[in-house]
Amino acid sequence: MPIFTLEVRAHLDGVASVTAGADYDWMLWFTCTNCGEKTDNALVFHESDKVEQVRGAVVNLQVKCKFCERVNDASIVTHKASPHTYTSAYAPDWHPFCEFEARGMQPAAWEMMPGLAIVGESGVKFDESVLESTGSTYEFFGYDEKAKASVSITEWEYRITSARSRK
Ligand SMILES: [Zn+2]
Repeated sequence: MPIFTLEVRAHLDGVASVTAGADYDWMLWFTCTNCGEKTDNALVFHESDKVEQVRGAVVNLQVKCKFCERVNDASIVTHKASPHTYTSAYAPDWHPFCEFEARGMQPAAWEMMPGLAIVGESGVKFDESVLESTGSTYEFFGYDEKAKASVSITEWEYRITSARSRK
């Protein structure tokens, strides 16, 4: 089944990590690989969502294409060793943030929802943190009370790289 990798890059200043937890609202646009049509809306799903299919397989998201009526599905690939995290060790280079396994459709774009967990180098968690869109990239500015310093995430952007097959 094809695997799609959502990669992220950003400049982190005083920020140790940005993580999408298990309850993060993933909101993606998909393109049907059968007819080439894009979904009408961005679709929200979670790593914890379970949709049982006719053949017994369990996926995170199942969607019927409105145009060709094929039933497609997608799931988040979970790696215990590398959670959905972007850290200061990776910045400012591209690094995989999340992988999606999809059948019959491919992720086309990410509508970034609030709820990413941002942690400062001092260990402070920034609650209610939102990466704001600047048009082409996203940014976050905060104040680390423990480190007594301003922190920021700038030039946060993503790309979805092409599929590789898993047997
Ligand atoms: Zn279709």
